[in-house]
Amino acid sequence: MSHYVCPYCSLRYQINIKAKNGIPICGQCGDPLIKKSILDPKRGLSLILVAGFIIPLISFILSYITNQIEQSPKNETSSIATTINQ
Ligand SMILES: [Zn+2]
Repeated sequence: MSHYVCPYCSLRYQINIKAKNGIPICGQCGDPLIKKSILDPKRGLSLILVAGFIIPLISFILSYITNQIEQSPKNETSSIATTINQ
């Protein structure tokens, strides 16, 4: 996948317009746009690095929450059993 980008204008304020001959041009400066892929190698590598740090953190938090949920009903049943036995 790819999209068109003006090499001279800021990415925030780009307006893409098609010229009469069908070539996409920048709405601000009028220069022809350059075709650029959405997922370039730098972006892909940074996504992999971020996922390498975030996925273990999320799995740790989920396992901690599931352990807390599993342990909490056991304590309630044991307290009920002790009150019944008394
Ligand atoms: Zn431009």
